[in-house]
Amino acid sequence: MRVLGIEGTAWAASAAVYDNETDDVFIETDPYQPESGGIHPREAAEHMREAIPSVVETALSAATGPIDAVAFSRGPGLGPCLRVVGTAARALAQSLDVSLVGVNHMVAHLEIGRHRSGFDSPVCLNVSGANAHVLGYRNGRYRVLGETMDTGAGNAIDKFTRHVGWTHPGGPKVEEAANDGEYVDLPYVVKGMDFSFSGIMSAAKQAYDDGVPVEDVSRGLQETMFAMLTEVSERALSLTGRDELVVGGGVAQNERLQEMLREMADQRGANLHVPDPRFLGDNAGMIAVLGAMMAAAGETVAVEDSGIDADYRPDQVPVTWRPGEPP
Ligand code: ATP
Repeated sequence: MRVLGIEGTAWAASAAVYDNETDDVFIETDPYQPESGGIHPREAAEHMREAIPSVVETALSAATGPIDAVAFSRGPGLGPCLRVVGTAARALAQSLDVSLVGVNHMVAHLEIGRHRSGFDSPVCLNVSGANAHVLGYRNGRYRVLGETMDTGAGNAIDKFTRHVGWTHPGGPKVEEAANDGEYVDLPYVVKGMDFSFSGIMSAAKQAYDDGVPVEDVSRGLQETMFAMLTEVSERALSLTGRDELVVGGGVAQNERLQEMLREMADQRGANLHVPDPRFLGDNAGMIAVLGAMMAAAGETVAVEDSGIDADYRPDQVPVTWRPGEPP
């Protein structure tokens, strides 16, 4: 089966073709880069409108045969962007006369890690711009075992970097600056399995305003946020009895986060899988891969029922494409 995937929840106008016989994934992405500030929903949607046709054309021209289904990111994400992508996907499915698959973007972050790792039933730490949560499978769904009580991990970092005058996205800049910094103490907030980033983000801005070098604040920010994520991931492994961890989302590209997770996994005798960078930040490859699994399980959607859902949670999705899943 060959599936065209289309992604456009926030900044990445992306299309991919996945062939489940060869396991090849071709991805074409055109990123939205704000001139100043963070992601502006209207501008991002305009970017989708301009960029989706050409990324789709490029992906289709790389396909080695006919397309059997069109999969699209149905949510969660920015409503104006999702609407453009949904419209494009419906039009393409109808003109190609193939089925349509509505994919949950956060489940796709998990499934691409699971698919590439070959793990049986991993716990997944998803850390992206707008989201931060730990998922684990139980009784037919990926349950949210722990999550941020306020802002996503990347958004917290990006708000700090906007404050210091750096351009979007801030994550890679904080990573670079942190290498030259000394650790400074910032608020560490974990409540049970949930965590919070808004206090640390305000404290980081305040420390910078008080004259603490930006490299030191960056170091403190990374060490503290990633320690929180590592603690909750470890507890999720312990409570579920699982020994496999995968990561998803753009923040998971951070090498210090990977190092902390690997150290924790090694100490527990667990395995960590970090997907290729092209599958970590938003990308249509993960939409096409999960789209193929869902289409094979008959999880297609009629055009009239294919509305987008900006707040689509991963635990709303019945996992019907993995029939042999343990409870
Ligand atoms: P989602 O809809 O999945 O929440 P998103 O558009 O919010 O997606 P992603 O594409 O998954 O986010 O990730 C983008 C975020 O990743 C940005 O906030 C960016 O600053 C952050 N990021 C990218 N590289 C790094 C890095 N090396 N270290 C830390 N954060 C990073």
